[in-house]
Amino acid sequence: MKNNTTAKLITSIESIQSLVEMATSRNIKISELVVEIESNKKNVDKKILIDKMASYYATMKNAIEKGMETEFEFKTGLQNNIVGIAKNYYESGKSISGTNMGKAITYAMAVSGYNAMMGKVIAAPTAGSCGIMPAVLKICEDNNASEGNVIMSMFTAAGFADMIAEHATFAGAEGGCQAECGAASAMASAAMVEAMGGTQEQCSHAFALTLSTILGLICDPIAGYVEVPCMNKNILGTINAITFAELALAGVKSVVPADEVIIAMKDVGDNMCARFKETSLGGLATTPTGIKISEKLLGKQKHR
Ligand code: SF4
Repeated sequence: MKNNTTAKLITSIESIQSLVEMATSRNIKISELVVEIESNKKNVDKKILIDKMASYYATMKNAIEKGMETEFEFKTGLQNNIVGIAKNYYESGKSISGTNMGKAITYAMAVSGYNAMMGKVIAAPTAGSCGIMPAVLKICEDNNASEGNVIMSMFTAAGFADMIAEHATFAGAEGGCQAECGAASAMASAAMVEAMGGTQEQCSHAFALTLSTILGLICDPIAGYVEVPCMNKNILGTINAITFAELALAGVKSVVPADEVIIAMKDVGDNMCARFKETSLGGLATTPTGIKISEKLLGKQKHR
């Protein structure tokens, strides 16, 4: 039987480990605990918080839908029909990776592309990484997780994300893409575990496994547009999230605990060369092709 009584008024999150321990000892989901903490902190009714989260999920699903049906007109003029190409392939029945993977990839591309076209998205945690959470959450719903459980699982992602905000960063300019797509991927993985019926501890293992594999991911957008390679990094984050959510659900544990992986993330981000932190002065942005595109769009002066 669930014990929903609050022993003491908790108004902040200390660590992922503390969330896991508290939720486990009270036999409640991490998301329920996060809602409770948020409600205490803001002195707001829990229902208001849940309704707000439901509206975010509705916006995410709308972005998937719009992104799937839109022929993009990207600033770079590149990849305008990228979602259509992927969708046709996955719907052809030829996919090696299977229906769920195909859908997840297409959803992530759709939302990421919709963002590049200035469509309305939810920055979870950033606009650049906005395709990952919707894609993973929608896959949960496609696989029989109830919409209510999916919405609640977003609080687990948010609670864990609080620790990244506290001890590291979400900014590509500070921590590279590990801070954007890496964080989104870890958040989505934890959410997926909860939405698919995993334990509190499995949520933290999924988060740790996912984030630890994406440390060091650089930020190198061509011409500074959140398009190439950002859309592909959203795909990477989505696949990564699903892979490690499933492994955590299977019982695989992260050797390094989630809180420590966040500290490592901060260390990597702090020591990453500035060229790889959203300056477009390194990586793909400065390949001959990247430079050619940049010069065409921005002119020689601006590129340099
Ligand atoms: S590469 Fe940079 S701009 Fe693109 S999604 Fe990652 S952090 Fe954002």
